[in-house]
Amino acid sequence: MSLIHSVILPASYQCLSHHDYQVDIYRGDLEHATAPGNKWHKLQYHLKEARKRNATVIATFGGPFSNHLHAFAMTLKNLPFKAVAVVRGELQPQLTPTLRDAVECDVELWPSSRSDYRLETSSEVSSMINTLYENVYWIPEGGGGHLGALGCRDWADSIYHLDTEYDAWVISSGTGTTAAGLLAYDKAPDLHVFSALKGAAEQEGDIIELANRLIEKNVVEIGASEISCSKKLFFHDDCHEGGYAKQSKALKDFIQEFAIANPSSALDPVYTCKSMFAILTAIKKGIWPYSRTLFIHTGGLQGWRGYPSESNPFISSSETQSS
Ligand SMILES: *Cc1c(COP(=O)(O)O)cnc(C)c1O
Repeated sequence: MSLIHSVILPASYQCLSHHDYQVDIYRGDLEHATAPGNKWHKLQYHLKEARKRNATVIATFGGPFSNHLHAFAMTLKNLPFKAVAVVRGELQPQLTPTLRDAVECDVELWPSSRSDYRLETSSEVSSMINTLYENVYWIPEGGGGHLGALGCRDWADSIYHLDTEYDAWVISSGTGTTAAGLLAYDKAPDLHVFSALKGAAEQEGDIIELANRLIEKNVVEIGASEISCSKKLFFHDDCHEGGYAKQSKALKDFIQEFAIANPSSALDPVYTCKSMFAILTAIKKGIWPYSRTLFIHTGGLQGWRGYPSESNPFISSSETQSS
């Protein structure tokens, strides 16, 4: 089964100019049955590092609907590590579907106050975990950092080899780790990054810095030629539609319309819906400068379980996400 599918432009997004657009979608949401999307890739080098350090426990952080926590639980389920997760906020007696899945995968959940949670590995709760267990390997929230980006660079390589002829790739961002990994891949075409967060302007610099660190390491280790990655990065911080996990009326309408044209290409409610909305709007206006675009789907369909079911027009495909 090919993981590259074409996107059908919804009726009201058909281009008004004569520009011929081809938009394809790399179905990252169909990879790795139980842990689809970018989070699986972000975990791979963290797991290698944990093995190298002979860790017995792997711990991480996440909110009650976190895609990272979900992928973490599903990926660690069959590995010989004890899995521990610090959850942002109090644990409600009625666990969210995401946390229920985590418990079913034998992840031990530790609630934390929002203020303590923000301190990450310097938090009180993480020092309690370090006291209780020996040799804990900590994965940052979202699976980020250098090792997370490295896994996404490998992902870029596998996507590139399916089809080398795209003029642009499109990716959604939260922390920017995935974008940095793709940007560090030398054969990546122009990379358009759409942030789901409000006020993320300074993230552009962080993405370039992280990508440059990966590239420099490659130059030293395998003699790869150094190329300027910042020229091919196009960072957009104006498509958050109200902020993280928020959906504007216009975005809600777009999701419904997109689903009618593309019922089997479900978008997630937090990230991919916003980046798809942004590029199809640019296409509609005739200002998208590329003929062949590859939209890289980062997964996250399990996140629909935090939204009213009537707001999800892809209902049957997200049902397959819940286990
Ligand atoms: C986490 C996530 C992102 C953002 O990835 P970053 O590496 O944090 O930028 C994008 N899309 C989906 C579906 C995600 O779950």
